[in-house]
Amino acid sequence: MAANSAPCEQCFFCRRGLQNLCEDLQFNNGAYAEYIRIPSRIVERNTYRIPEGVSYHDAALIEPLACVLKGFEETSPRPGDTIAILGLGPIGLMFVKLASLYGCRVIAIGRRRTQLDRAEAMGAHELVRADQHINTVEAVRNLTGGRGADIAVEAVGKPETWHWVLDMVRRGGTLNFFGGCPNESRVMFDTNLLHYSEITCKASFHHTPAHIRKALDLVTRGDITSKDFVNSEEPLANLLEVMRHLMSHNGHLKTAIIP
Ligand SMILES: [Zn+2]
Repeated sequence: MAANSAPCEQCFFCRRGLQNLCEDLQFNNGAYAEYIRIPSRIVERNTYRIPEGVSYHDAALIEPLACVLKGFEETSPRPGDTIAILGLGPIGLMFVKLASLYGCRVIAIGRRRTQLDRAEAMGAHELVRADQHINTVEAVRNLTGGRGADIAVEAVGKPETWHWVLDMVRRGGTLNFFGGCPNESRVMFDTNLLHYSEITCKASFHHTPAHIRKALDLVTRGDITSKDFVNSEEPLANLLEVMRHLMSHNGHLKTAIIP
């Protein structure tokens, strides 16, 4: 299982354990082929043997899971914390699964009934359907005694929802702006709210080799399984069709491409 990047392990950032911000992060983008050549640095530093009993489908989850694991850890969760997760695509659902495994109380917020059903199956305790008739911020506040969630994760990638999570979190709580917004997006936040409520704002990009190894462990233990995330299979020849389908944001999960 070759990760999609490898850090240099020598630069300023690598020496501080921030390998995801490596000044010379080598990427290997794209794997849609019968054969690919993996750059030697990735072979040396970020390639792993798939353990027995772990399917290719399961192993393919490791990269996105490593990103989510890093984002989750960086919010410093404690068992029993209430965590609001806004956005229930595959990434949001991985947050739901991880947070419930960790013993958090999970409030899952999504637009589609199917997404909310999946979130419930993965351990979400409360479901909030985000449509124009519901004030999702108020819904989260009502579910937390008016206080707000200990942690709120934005897994949508829109300036509007970046604002929502700020209003969902409690005083002294932590936010993770996990969803990347379109280029040149801008947000304006209430400085008084950030300052006097002592909100910690985190953002999380990519992963490190250590998170890849942890994600591999989670998948090997069966805590995270492709059965929850991969709901169809297609041959390589149908790739374009699959991509078009994904672009329509129709609430589908992941499709395994079998070359
Ligand atoms: Zn580096």
